[in-house]
Amino acid sequence: EVRVRFAPSPTGALHIGGVRTALYNYLFAKKHNGKMILRIEDTDQNRFVPGAEEYIKESLEWMGIIADESPYAGGEYGPYRQSERKGIYAEYAQKLIDEGNAYYAFDTAEELEAMRERLKAARVDTPQYNAITRMQMKNSLTLSGEEVNQKLEAGEPYVIRLKVPRKEDVRLNDMVRGWVMVHSSAIDDKVLMKSDGMPTYHLANVVDDHLMKITHVIRGEEWLPSAPLHVLLYKFLGWENTMPQFAHLPLLLKPDGNGKLSKRDGDKLGFPVFPIQGSFPGKDGKTETFHGFREDGYLPDALLNFLAFLGWNPGTEQEIFSLQELIEAFTVERIGKSGTKFDIEKAKWYNQQYIKEKSAVELSIYLTKDLETNGIPIDEQKAKRVCEAMRERIVFPSDLWKDGKFFFSMPDNYDETVVRKKWTEGAVSVLDAYKEAILKADKLTADTAKEILNNILEEKGVKIGQVMQAVRLAITGKGGGPDLMEIIEILGNEEVANRIKKAID
Ligand code: GLU
Repeated sequence: EVRVRFAPSPTGALHIGGVRTALYNYLFAKKHNGKMILRIEDTDQNRFVPGAEEYIKESLEWMGIIADESPYAGGEYGPYRQSERKGIYAEYAQKLIDEGNAYYAFDTAEELEAMRERLKAARVDTPQYNAITRMQMKNSLTLSGEEVNQKLEAGEPYVIRLKVPRKEDVRLNDMVRGWVMVHSSAIDDKVLMKSDGMPTYHLANVVDDHLMKITHVIRGEEWLPSAPLHVLLYKFLGWENTMPQFAHLPLLLKPDGNGKLSKRDGDKLGFPVFPIQGSFPGKDGKTETFHGFREDGYLPDALLNFLAFLGWNPGTEQEIFSLQELIEAFTVERIGKSGTKFDIEKAKWYNQQYIKEKSAVELSIYLTKDLETNGIPIDEQKAKRVCEAMRERIVFPSDLWKDGKFFFSMPDNYDETVVRKKWTEGAVSVLDAYKEAILKADKLTADTAKEILNNILEEKGVKIGQVMQAVRLAITGKGGGPDLMEIIEILGNEEVANRIKKAID
């Protein structure tokens, strides 16, 4: 059975790249009739941010990415919050120590710093605690057994480090990147257990992936450098044969392709990079608020579709996919290797495509809210008709009111650029006649409104192109919008006549 996991750390708002990772895991699991697990990686107490887990939960729920096993849904392999699994990790750290693959280290922060300084002075670019330098430090490989026991008994603080072999090629076959090989001399003796008794990400992640029977690890490319270390851990823990397959996803890049899309880019570039709005205590204690796609009016299905294409493509021209279609089409083979530029215009395009498919009834829920807020009496029938007329030309539900205000109140100003070009004497005389004729018409529909106008134009010998924009301007105040005859039908005789009167007086 395919079992994948999304394993966020509750250290703040979940970046949109994280949502993409969750989505790819979800699609892969569903495609193979497998399970997706949501695991909260909250062992780093220094980086823990209150409210972040709730934020993650709400974001995934809004997107419709629901895990089969999670702290909320439960499951056979729980608990699914690492802070509730503390005891488990200690056991495996002990096993690594007992078998000589890990060791106690008693170095103080000052001693570690001094080591780094020494190495830097010796022109070592990236100072490491490794097979060579560990020999000068205070740990169970350099101290006698007796000294180690004394320190442990005296309660001296210690960490447990992985004993990375000095000369060994570590390989892994990544499903996206192919063979990745790293020489062990490039890997640090990473801390596995911290002095507070908490495991680090590396230990907890590997232990949990094993115990939760994870078959595929699909995660962001920023974790690729850690993968060889994880491979070593699987080997030392005797789990090499059931090691999950790795798939590291390409980075999301800034719109100009210059570097990774960061949490700050949203504010800088004026678009959201978080799924939903959230407020968190920042480093300086001040609350930071992040803007969300949800609050900006993106529909979750549209956003899913957009995210699916950030790093994956189906190999065909088709761009619109329902979640079910994505599940069917998704394959790891079609995930790209290179980073993908984040293009907000494409996100808007997707939103527009999904809005177009909404029924007038669904859309009118959004419109009625805005009407209420603006003190406009609600006429449900009219609201629905406005939504029908506007549907094809909006990007966000809020555009219904923003661009469709004129349906509900007389224009109080007129687009100057159109006035200058189109407000001719001829146009005014057509408008005057049109106003009178419309008042007399007994059943005003889009068709009759058109007929009436055509008759007047014929009588006066004016071409439609010469006056159409002026008519639109008089009625809506603007130079563009939905079909004018539709608008006239929705507004009705009197309102149209009043508007024309106001415009030409
Ligand atoms: N907790 C890690 C994160 O926040 C998980 C990385 C992984 O999937 O292994 O991204």
